[in-house]
Amino acid sequence: MRRRRYLCLWRFFVVTRIDFSGDKNNNNKMSKHSVHEMSFAQAIVEHVLRLAEENGAKKVSKIYIEMGELLLVNPEQLEFCVQLASSGTIAEGAELELEITKPQIECTSCGKRYDEPIAICECGGIIKVEGGKDMVIKKVEMEV
Ligand SMILES: [Zn+2]
Repeated sequence: MRRRRYLCLWRFFVVTRIDFSGDKNNNNKMSKHSVHEMSFAQAIVEHVLRLAEENGAKKVSKIYIEMGELLLVNPEQLEFCVQLASSGTIAEGAELELEITKPQIECTSCGKRYDEPIAICECGGIIKVEGGKDMVIKKVEMEV
């Protein structure tokens, strides 16, 4: 028997920035007991499902995420939580590709760069930290 169903795979290049700075006031569905990774996973799934709906997708196959190192997310736990949060939706079983981005940590006086966030430079200068706190949904692959 021939199947006459066409399967088109579209790649949507979508960049979505989610702001977690106002986390305290964020009381949408997230209980106080939910783990750190679960709140990110729920946000990811929520956004991905919205994108999928907007694009009339039937299935989400892959999600590309960029995550700042300073968010201190455990990749394995995040993957598990995304699976959990997406179960029963069209994003269930979607592959997750996670990239951890490093922050730029630099002294404003001498310009020395550091790998870890510190309070003050060895020269006494003030440290500036840029990036490393963003979660970006870079790309979502879906079948329409
Ligand atoms: Zn310095």
